[in-house]
Amino acid sequence: MTHAEPTATREPVHTRALIIGTGFSGLGMAIALQKRGVDFVILEKAGDIGGTWRDNSYPGCACDIPSHLYSFSFEPKPDWRNPFSYQPEIWDYLKGVTDKYGLRRYIVFNSLVDRGHWDDEENRWHVFTADGREYVAQFLISGAGALHIPSFPDIEGRDEFAGPAFHSAEWDHSVDLTGKRVAIIGTGASAIQIVPEIVGQVAELQLYQRTPPWVVPRSNPDLPLALRRAMANVPGLRALTRLGIYWAQEALAFGMTKRPNALKFIEAYCKYNIRRSVKDRELRRKLTPHYRIGCKRILNSSTYYGAVADPKTQLITEGISRITTDGIVTADGREHKADVIVYATGFHVTDSYTYVQIKGRHGEDLVDRWNREGIGAHRGITVADVPNLFFLLGPNTGLGHNSVVFMIESQIHYVADAIKTCDKMGAQALAPTREAQDAFNAELQEKLSHSVWNSGGCSSWYLDEHGKNTVLWGGYTWQYWRATRGGKPEEYRFFGVRRRHKDLSLTGEA
Ligand SMILES: Cc1cc2nc3c(=O)[nH]c(=O)nc-3n(C[C@H](O)[C@H](O)[C@H](O)COP(=O)(O)OP(=O)(O)OC[C@H]3O[C@@H](n4cnc5c(N)ncnc54)[C@H](O)[C@@H]3O)c2cc1C
Repeated sequence: MTHAEPTATREPVHTRALIIGTGFSGLGMAIALQKRGVDFVILEKAGDIGGTWRDNSYPGCACDIPSHLYSFSFEPKPDWRNPFSYQPEIWDYLKGVTDKYGLRRYIVFNSLVDRGHWDDEENRWHVFTADGREYVAQFLISGAGALHIPSFPDIEGRDEFAGPAFHSAEWDHSVDLTGKRVAIIGTGASAIQIVPEIVGQVAELQLYQRTPPWVVPRSNPDLPLALRRAMANVPGLRALTRLGIYWAQEALAFGMTKRPNALKFIEAYCKYNIRRSVKDRELRRKLTPHYRIGCKRILNSSTYYGAVADPKTQLITEGISRITTDGIVTADGREHKADVIVYATGFHVTDSYTYVQIKGRHGEDLVDRWNREGIGAHRGITVADVPNLFFLLGPNTGLGHNSVVFMIESQIHYVADAIKTCDKMGAQALAPTREAQDAFNAELQEKLSHSVWNSGGCSSWYLDEHGKNTVLWGGYTWQYWRATRGGKPEEYRFFGVRRRHKDLSLTGEA
């Protein structure tokens, strides 16, 4: 029996901290708690670890932030094979980290967290999985991720298609695309990686585009063995590389958050790249975006335009009116026969925060509150009146320009610090004050109003139906790092306090 496995009698499992998810967030949090001697259990809805890097196995899947930065700072891997690693290597990396820290025995797989409520008397979370098991914990930490619920477009006849049809995050590897007519719906981050990989294999590739993405050229060669060895053996080289990548990425934040017009020079480079890659004038027109670069996620590829210009590819920009048993009908009335449909249509981002039903103090439903007031958390992590709940990569902590692992590590530090503060104060629980949370979000939204995401002239998954950005951080990532260094007890209410501590101000309830 594993440490985490509930007993056969299905008694509630008691633990100090309950972690949801085994992606970068959940695993990183578990390691931090393990180092600090805090008892924990991890619940994972799938049958293996890895999150994003387990689920997305489509052809060409790779990260778009260089791996020497897009990895844990405390678990460097000097021998990444490519600058931008492919999914199998990132997944292997996460599996390696899991095994190194012996985390598997703390994980309960195939355990979908369904709901959780805070008990005001006990100062404990009662959390239930879909199979009816109960976990009782002092701290509930969600590393459930923002990009794990595939989003399908609401197109008439979607269920009528007779051939294989699947989402890019649920790639059906049993389907052989060789010689097939393949329709890809969507031209976002996943599609631009898939298209160059499969164009040589298929008979015909129909690419359905609503809005063209900005694509910055990027090559991803195998790194020479000598360089990989040097990364492992030359003191400081890997750390310096990581630092260099960090600041190069960070430079983009100035344009994205403060001066969107400063990004124009990147647009000029991208347009030059379209001109040199695509000879056909009409195709160039269709591929050229008309919004400020950065407004939607900037994509990277040196092979995408060549694949779109391939005679086997048709870029279809007329909207889709319906799907039939054997193809797709566009708004101009044309029917495009297809053997396979791939939905490269992204994820339900905001739903993922509300995926688990959470009831805080006095039984208040967090989703109801967020539906009323909009999604928001204090420093993207904690929520007023919902004690001891922590989000990793929660509201407004995603990034458009840098590695989210940097954000996740900042949050892990903050959560570990909060647990320490509770212990130090003899408190059972903490939750941010309304004032602190509102002030944090008002300042953040003010900053975001000047950003390219709010003003760049596009619609994107970063904005909710009211045009409010609930997804991205609005500044430099080092500012977020600073904001999550050292919890500020004055921003919190404490519950179940057994003794007062001289060093810390206290606004809580005993
Ligand atoms: C194709 C792709 C490429 C990306 N590339 C980059 C990149 O280059 N750079 C970058 O910064 N970001 C990138 N991202 C964003 C990426 O999601 C994050 O970088 C990171 O992997 C998020 O880690 P996470 O642990 O927070 O979430 P996830 O990796 O999504 O892990 C969440 C885990 O929680 C589990 N889970 C969710 N809900 C429940 C529940 N209710 N009960 C139990 N378990 C649950 C899931 O099964 C999953 O295992 C990319 C995303 C995608 C989809």
